[in-house]
Amino acid sequence: MMNLSSTMNASGCRYCVSPLKQLLHTTNHHLRFRPCSPSLFSSSFNNLKLPNFNLLLTSNSFFFTMEQYGVISSEKVARVMETIDRALFVPDKTPAYADCPQEIGYNATISAPHMHATCLQLLEEKLQPGMHALDVGSGTGYLTACFAMMVGPQGRAIGVEHIPELVASSINNIEKSAAAPLLKKGSLSMHVGDGREGWPECAPYDAIHVGAAAPEMPQALLDQLKPGGRMVIPVGNIFQDLKVVDKNPDGSISIRSESSVRYVPLTSRDAQLQS
Ligand code: SAH
Repeated sequence: MMNLSSTMNASGCRYCVSPLKQLLHTTNHHLRFRPCSPSLFSSSFNNLKLPNFNLLLTSNSFFFTMEQYGVISSEKVARVMETIDRALFVPDKTPAYADCPQEIGYNATISAPHMHATCLQLLEEKLQPGMHALDVGSGTGYLTACFAMMVGPQGRAIGVEHIPELVASSINNIEKSAAAPLLKKGSLSMHVGDGREGWPECAPYDAIHVGAAAPEMPQALLDQLKPGGRMVIPVGNIFQDLKVVDKNPDGSISIRSESSVRYVPLTSRDAQLQS
């Protein structure tokens, strides 16, 4: 059972709160982030341009209650989120450990920590050492780096992102992080491409994560999932569900909805830049 007394809050900006690293030093690794409250906005965004509230709504759990906030129940996921420091992946002067999506430019966001944790936990079984993982819409590279740490040097973690500038900055971010040796070795790689087509060169994948909402289930991604593999993908337009897609050993597909979510769309580069 979860021990609420060891649940901790992570909020504020990276200059004035303990880093995630310290906050994860709890006895049972149950961690709770504080949601973006009005006071957080006023203290953290005082000296910044006004936040784009549409973007800030993305990638957050749709039901904005404390009950649903970011409880990490997997020790392995807690460890990887501790090892890959989110502060290296968010733009300067952004509150790295607040449980909100943050703008990263190009009409994109880094997902909220609770969404990263949720997706890592949903995929954990398929991120064992030596497995292959694909991160579509890799943005800052944070989750791809986490995948790479979990599958290890014998595995493969691929990030695909269609904004070349984001791919370049994700590589810079990863080079500063604990995943740098994996990038150097080549078990972790970041690519410019249309993620709706997946990344056939390294398919099939044990785990596929999609970090942007697809209007419908992309066939290419289903095709690139290994039998026994799992994909986590937000699907929908205004109303989106985080879908957990399992490819059974006989090749048939089982799909369930995990929760209602709000992500930026999985779309064309032009549509995204014009939105
Ligand atoms: N998971 C990432 C980014 C989430 S935002 C993180 O947490 O850092 C979603 C990302 O998907 C954006 O970076 C956006 O540019 C990208 N994206 C949207 N449509 C895409 C497509 N068709 N192909 C590749 N990337 C896409």
